[in-house]
Amino acid sequence: TLQVTVEGKISQLNPAARKLLDTASGAMSVFSLMPDIRPEEVEECVNSGGSLTNETEIEGRVFQFTLLGMPKLGWAHVYGFDVSLFREIESRLKAAKVKAEVTTRMKSEFLANMSHEIRTPMNGVMGMTTLLLETGLNKEQKDYAELIQQSAESLLELINEILDLSKIEAGKMTLDAAPFNLISTAEQTVRLLQSRINTKNLQFSTDIAPRLPKSFIGDPSRTRQILFNLLGNAIKFTEKGSVQLRIGFAHPPKDQNLASGQDIRILIEVQDTGIGIAEDQLAKIFENFVQADSSATRQFGGTGLGLAISRQLVELMGGSIQAQSKLTEGTTFSVEIPLKVATH
Ligand code: ADP
Repeated sequence: TLQVTVEGKISQLNPAARKLLDTASGAMSVFSLMPDIRPEEVEECVNSGGSLTNETEIEGRVFQFTLLGMPKLGWAHVYGFDVSLFREIESRLKAAKVKAEVTTRMKSEFLANMSHEIRTPMNGVMGMTTLLLETGLNKEQKDYAELIQQSAESLLELINEILDLSKIEAGKMTLDAAPFNLISTAEQTVRLLQSRINTKNLQFSTDIAPRLPKSFIGDPSRTRQILFNLLGNAIKFTEKGSVQLRIGFAHPPKDQNLASGQDIRILIEVQDTGIGIAEDQLAKIFENFVQADSSATRQFGGTGLGLAISRQLVELMGGSIQAQSKLTEGTTFSVEIPLKVATH
């Protein structure tokens, strides 16, 4: 610590400050310790009681000086601290952060590339198996070929999910903004799942808000993917009862007639009467590779990636996703997404 006059001259100092001054320049002025400040600033500080802070490097060490004006006494107090260690830790942390970010991005890019490379031969395996199944195979050969086909399908599903996730994590997922018919997108998705609904003998119903516009501007295929995941899960985790799809407004619109170009928030709900999710698991199911019950994987298959991807997609769209559930009674997933009304 030291004391300085209005002119910046040092009037009193302790031994540590003396030592520092000797190494700095030896001049008995505050400007040799705080070279970045101007004499007017010191004067102003002393008169007003303000403060000035400055970092100076002296012989490889970083010192932080704070000058505090004492208007009643007519001089200023200067405190100095050796902050070299803080600065070094800070710069090491910064370097580590940059390195970690680069590594993460490289990993995601690698995964995205790999998944892409794997998809091409996988499509070959699937296409050829389909052709093979159309040739005259005996029962045993047909069973084997069908098993190849099923395995290839689940592998491809997994690869596609990893590809999506790595794309999202590498910040490379871009969404379409095209006009699309939300209701027919939902109907197409249901059609893809119809055979699973029939096999399980589930009651399925769709409820669409009466005044809901048909066309929106958005990303139809990613919307379909979210719907497919939620409906697929609802069917997968429900043995008896029903699965319901509701599409409506998150907030009832004030206007009777919605103008094209208007932004509205759509609420999509998928409700089932299935096995449900325990309360402590509910928040975690949107994380990567998380499945509510590890025995479920063996029983139901799946990767634990579907909901993670859906959440990321919904958030990219500027929306949100939530789940409500009661064990053994059923689950409801609610998705809110902002969409622009389109003309047709
Ligand atoms: P996957 O279905 O491939 O396991 P998801 O990310 O889609 O992965 O789902 C994660 C987990 O959330 C599932 O494994 C399951 O435990 C739970 N879950 C999702 N949807 C439902 C549902 N409708 N009913 C009960 N559990 C569900």
